[in-house]
Amino acid sequence: MSFRTEIREWLDSNCPDSCRGPGDVPGGGTKAAMTDEQRLWLDRCAAEGLTVPNWETKYGGAGFSKDQWVIMLEEMRDLHVRSPVSGMGISMLGPTLLEFGTEEQKLRHLPRIARGEVWWCQGYSEPGSGSDLASLQTRAENQGDHYVINGQKIWTSGANFADWIFCLVRTNPDVPKHEGISFVLFSMNQPGVTVRPIRLISGASPFCETFFDNAIADRDDLVSNENEGWTVAKRLLQHERSGMLSLASGGNREAGIDLPQLRSLYAENADPALQQRILKNLIDTECMNLTQRRTVEESEGNTPGPATSIFKYYGATLAKERSELQISLMGTQGLGNESGPYSSSELTMTRTWLAGKARSIAGGSNEVQLNIIAKRVLGLPD
Ligand SMILES: Cc1cc2nc3c(=O)[nH]c(=O)nc-3n(C[C@H](O)[C@H](O)[C@H](O)COP(=O)(O)OP(=O)(O)OC[C@H]3O[C@@H](n4cnc5c(N)ncnc54)[C@H](O)[C@@H]3O)c2cc1C
Repeated sequence: MSFRTEIREWLDSNCPDSCRGPGDVPGGGTKAAMTDEQRLWLDRCAAEGLTVPNWETKYGGAGFSKDQWVIMLEEMRDLHVRSPVSGMGISMLGPTLLEFGTEEQKLRHLPRIARGEVWWCQGYSEPGSGSDLASLQTRAENQGDHYVINGQKIWTSGANFADWIFCLVRTNPDVPKHEGISFVLFSMNQPGVTVRPIRLISGASPFCETFFDNAIADRDDLVSNENEGWTVAKRLLQHERSGMLSLASGGNREAGIDLPQLRSLYAENADPALQQRILKNLIDTECMNLTQRRTVEESEGNTPGPATSIFKYYGATLAKERSELQISLMGTQGLGNESGPYSSSELTMTRTWLAGKARSIAGGSNEVQLNIIAKRVLGLPD
């Protein structure tokens, strides 16, 4: 039996119906809710190493080659199978640890990420340090076998659900700013960590203020060398910006209209102006997917360098265009609120449209991506 037939049969017979099509992908960990079927799907995939198919089996993966991974993603898309688990552990920290972690760190953290046991959050931004991230002030004092951490992070997505954090801290304030930063991992479940969710106008709290008051990180959880964390931090951002997460999710995570629906709306719609917008979005999405796929193939499955800023910038633009288009197609039903006559899918669509605006800020703003593309990809002068 060919690999494609085998993996297709496995996916089709093991994925519960409720884990197919547009919908939530759980973040795993110990604090967030999960349905029984989501748990079943996660456990089945983890047992086969299919939550992180391209990682080695000793780290919880399936040891798939790049070609096998691509075939699996194609079959997931075709069967509308969603990823069993998502999050910063799989998409950002995991690939970074594979590159910079010691063998002991990899064996301790990666299998737990693969099994969806730990929800990770990202402690980068601070109240005075966003785009100029290297100016961060959170201090870590080396106490021999551990660090003592004091300071504040902000916009920490999912910190209220997180079990662990990967965090940028200043370990030397007396050198140029990029040279005094370290990258450490530590538990969020300790007395020195306080999380305060930031309540948004929508009532949701997707991100938090996170305070460290003598929080402890084990020396064993310093990634790379002390004061060399900036290189690790930049690499992690490239994984974040690459969009590999959306590739790895089988393309079915976004709420709202999926590609087949958009295609049939194109055929049905009599308004030529709307037809043109639908067609443009379909073509642009296809081009983006093909370019991402080609990049994965050319880079031997590894995330490329500064060119990931192109995916980040263009992916954010496309997603915003798509949700604007959805709202135009839905008319007034696309602008829902809880007190009006709106279905839950209409409300989800409205929230997706509103949340889409943040995509040009999260993970580095559009302007910062354009700077990186100009300097690092095109080699233009400062
Ligand atoms: C939905 C969402 C989730 C997030 N999740 C996390 C998270 O989990 N962890 C985390 O650490 N952070 C997170 N962030 C924070 C995010 O990384 C920062 O918001 C982002 O880096 C921008 O920083 P800032 O908000 O301080 O804006 P600023 O840096 O103050 O920028 C303000 C404006 O100035 C522009 N600007 C700044 N510098 C330049 C320049 N050199 N050239 C041109 N224009 C410039 C920016 O583009 C922007 O328009 C999240 C943000 C969002 C929106």
